[in-house]
Amino acid sequence: MKKLALHWKIIIGMILGIIFGFIMNSMSNQQFVTDWIAPFGKIFINLLKLIAVPLILASLIKGISDLKDISKIKSMGLRTIAIYVGTTLIAIVIGLTIVNVVKPGAGMPEATIEKIKLKYENDAGVTDKLEKASAQQNAGPLQALVDIFPSNIFKAMGEAKMLQVICFALFVGISLLLIGEKKAKPMVDIFDSLNEVIMKMVDLIMLFAPYAVFALMANVIIAFDDTEILLKLVQYALCVVVGLVLMIGFYLLLITLVTKKSPLWFLKNMSPAQLLAFSTSSSAATLPVTMERVEEHIGVDKEVSGFVLPVGATVNMDGTSLYQGIAAVFIMQVIWPEGLTFTNQVVIVLTALLASIGSAAVPSAGMVMLVIVLESVGFPAELLPIGLALIFAVDRPLDMCRTVVNVTGDATVSMIVAKSLGKLHDNPKAKEWDDNYET
Ligand code: ASP
Repeated sequence: MKKLALHWKIIIGMILGIIFGFIMNSMSNQQFVTDWIAPFGKIFINLLKLIAVPLILASLIKGISDLKDISKIKSMGLRTIAIYVGTTLIAIVIGLTIVNVVKPGAGMPEATIEKIKLKYENDAGVTDKLEKASAQQNAGPLQALVDIFPSNIFKAMGEAKMLQVICFALFVGISLLLIGEKKAKPMVDIFDSLNEVIMKMVDLIMLFAPYAVFALMANVIIAFDDTEILLKLVQYALCVVVGLVLMIGFYLLLITLVTKKSPLWFLKNMSPAQLLAFSTSSSAATLPVTMERVEEHIGVDKEVSGFVLPVGATVNMDGTSLYQGIAAVFIMQVIWPEGLTFTNQVVIVLTALLASIGSAAVPSAGMVMLVIVLESVGFPAELLPIGLALIFAVDRPLDMCRTVVNVTGDATVSMIVAKSLGKLHDNPKAKEWDDNYET
């Protein structure tokens, strides 16, 4: 194992975890995984989440105060949001094109629909998504805006409300700029050093990553118990996966054209974050690693990554929006084909954009917001549980894949924004690939 790069170690951990999960399934010994293996995955995710909030706070405050000029915040902010919205719209259009051409939901046999309905319609997972979606909808139209502004920063940090923490950090960063360099220096130094400490913590946590992904993957595999239904949904799942792969291709093209960097170099440097996104299904949990990779291996200046990445983890979910477009149309193809009008598809583009912005960066959040996309086109309420039941069996693997795209999208945009501001460095700390991780 001595010379093996980190991403290979993680891949080996994943494969062994998958094999182990299947072996435990065949021995009907899922409980062993739940009791003795899964907790190690949980510990790993807890550690990543533990540092995510202080990391956002430290890097954003430091990043903003480094900008030295308030107008730069405006130009970086506007650029970032515009590119985020643009890439998300492209993702949705890719998704809708694929699902309309392939039509994976057309002609699904009645017997299959009945079977899925019986098995999942009243499943706790489906009911839970519906409840969460209705809680989200009962709030007023501007609630999402109100929710960005914290009334208590400790509560916001305690509940890991990313947007609230970002809002607070921006507020502090701007105020530090306004009081002038001399007065701001002691506080900026503290956050700078905190940032360094957290980056080191990421390195240390990553030493544990190959073992943690073993546990995470074994735990995912033991949840797949109905292979028959899974196979029936292969066409739908493939549409999502093909769309996601096209999206990654689009990012690589952007990187090559805009930053003139090699796509392979980008993938090699980002792969540990992508593999973690895949095994944790959470952009929020992956954020510390995404930041470490982008800053120390890709060469994006902290001023840019400190703002672009935390905001992106929360609002830029291209994989999720692509999935929401495909899933909404697929469900309509199966149980509500009369709703598939052109106008409705345009509505889906807009609501999937908003729904992906509103989705939390945690596992299966995209499915909760899918309910809202469906409701926006007048999808009959009584069919909603069946609609979700239809895609429920394959949602976890698709969640893993779309989270990879969400994270890759954020990293790509951070590079493009950095390049446009002259903040993409050629020689990121002259770090050799993986020099930190060799054990
Ligand atoms: N799991 C995704 C993420 O954290 C969100 C989703 O699509 O469910 O990025």
